[in-house]
Amino acid sequence: MVFGTTVYSLIGILLVNQVDESLTQTSREIITNTRIDSVGDLDVIILPQFNFTSNLFVQVWDTNRNLSSSSQNIGGYDQPLDPIGIESSLPEYRDVLIQETHMRTISVPLLIGERPIGTLQIASGTELIYLLRRTLLYILIVTTLFSMLLSGILSWFVIGRALAPLNTVTDTALQITHANDLSRRIPYHGSEEDEIGLLILSFNETLERLEKLFSSQQRFLADVSHELRTPLTVIKANADLLRLMNEIDLESLNSIKDETDRLTRMVGDLLLLAQADTGKLPLNFKPVELDCLLLDVLKDLHLLAGDRIQLKIIEIDQIQVNGDVDRLKQVLVNLISNAIKYTPGDGTVSITLGKEEEFAKLIIKDTGPGIPREDLPHIFERFYRTEKSRTRSKSSGFGLGLSITYWIVNAHGGKIEAESMEGAGTTFTVWLPLLETST
Ligand code: ADP
Repeated sequence: MVFGTTVYSLIGILLVNQVDESLTQTSREIITNTRIDSVGDLDVIILPQFNFTSNLFVQVWDTNRNLSSSSQNIGGYDQPLDPIGIESSLPEYRDVLIQETHMRTISVPLLIGERPIGTLQIASGTELIYLLRRTLLYILIVTTLFSMLLSGILSWFVIGRALAPLNTVTDTALQITHANDLSRRIPYHGSEEDEIGLLILSFNETLERLEKLFSSQQRFLADVSHELRTPLTVIKANADLLRLMNEIDLESLNSIKDETDRLTRMVGDLLLLAQADTGKLPLNFKPVELDCLLLDVLKDLHLLAGDRIQLKIIEIDQIQVNGDVDRLKQVLVNLISNAIKYTPGDGTVSITLGKEEEFAKLIIKDTGPGIPREDLPHIFERFYRTEKSRTRSKSSGFGLGLSITYWIVNAHGGKIEAESMEGAGTTFTVWLPLLETST
């Protein structure tokens, strides 16, 4: 449409300009060839013998609106060619309709000095231009409509093809919703670089993440129910026994107490992890003397180690970190008690606390059975226990301790790593950022 309008206006302007130029040229020629008598009387303005082509019509009007002269081809027509322009004091061009014919006129005031003595009017037939412009307009309207229609159809076809894979996305998304099956993925065979490919790729990634989250949630629920069942069965069995015996049996009561303690511990751990997940676990950051805290923990755990395990301090540097003292204590207790718990008699647990760049580095190394290679990447997951510790139900926990430890260390801006070889012991290394003033 813009192209059509531009072409139409431009051609119109160019053609009219050409006519205007020839009108101006003719008016100049006529004026230079016109003779006026010495009085300057308008009656005596005489048109020179000018060879007018049949397309040019000339009139000379005096100031009283009397027709002084006109070209022969004008015949008996005695009206001004341009009734408005006759009054003008400056040359003027105008499109007029004379006897149903389209004309372009020029009106030039005739002056002697500054005195107006009449007006020269020349008209040129523009019927051909008019026809040309009308035909051009029709052609442009038809081609514009046609090209709009064509581009509409083409766009519909091309966009339809380009966006067709989106239908697959919608279908798959609906299937997932209806079938509750997160294992489905959207098939896409085109390039993974284009917009649709990227969309499908990220959609599939989201599905994968959702599937993982969903299955870990299901596993978590199954684990919790499983872990709850064992202590509850023991408690119920002992309670039944007590009822049957109808007397106080200390062993049964102790067993009930032990299992209740275990349950309480587990619920506490779960609560802590749930709070950590929702960001509601408050951490009370303060400067902590890590070396003193470690010594305190070791003193408490000596009882657990007994004569069975030798607790060896390799090196303890004076170290301050910024942290929550209770949570950091939990980290130390979890790691050292695990080392004691899983190391058989006559074993050694060695502890080193030092500095590495801007971090406090704590190493807890035991001479225990180690963690199998296939279990090592999973030990920080919730409820994860190696096969051996799963069977030793009494002494081992629920597999939550290391998840909690991992979370606490991360929340302090540190990191934890486990190294182990089956049969050759385990080493846990924890890095915690040093308190800035102590560096
Ligand atoms: P748990 O309460 O069962 O000890 P944790 O989360 O503390 O749970 O530990 C997860 C599992 O990692 C344990 O069940 C055990 O199999 C393994 N593990 C942790 N520490 C050690 C260690 N020092 N030596 C051998 N295995 C370990």
